[in-house]
Amino acid sequence: MLQDNIFLKIIAKQIPADILYEDERCLAFRDIKPQAPTHVLIIPRKVIATHADITAVDSELIGHLHVVAVQLAEQLQLEEGYRIVINCKDGGGQVVPHLHFHLLGGRRFAWPPG
Ligand code: 5GP
Repeated sequence: MLQDNIFLKIIAKQIPADILYEDERCLAFRDIKPQAPTHVLIIPRKVIATHADITAVDSELIGHLHVVAVQLAEQLQLEEGYRIVINCKDGGGQVVPHLHFHLLGGRRFAWPPG
């Protein structure tokens, strides 16, 4: 159920997470199954199920998530570079139905992605 996914439980502090940053609009925490030496998830508190559900009213919020990503990349010393991934819906590899940015760093990334 949309209102009952794992990220909403993390936002509500019903389950623990290694939270690196939070403010009134978003939360950033380490991925439980990291795909790189640094793997952080950045999520809005607002319920937005997928990237495809973003609308014009979310423009400022999405910009804010990017600013937070830049600040975290600096804080986590990803000066060599990093990758931001947003998986959208089943076909895009999305599992948790709450919009999230993956911030990945600490290794080289191949292109094209898998
Ligand atoms: P998606 O495939 O939806 O883009 O990514 C979901 C991510 O959430 C995965 O990388 C997965 O490891 C992570 N994840 C799933 N459950 C939890 C959890 O309970 N805690 C944390 N910290 N990460 C989770």
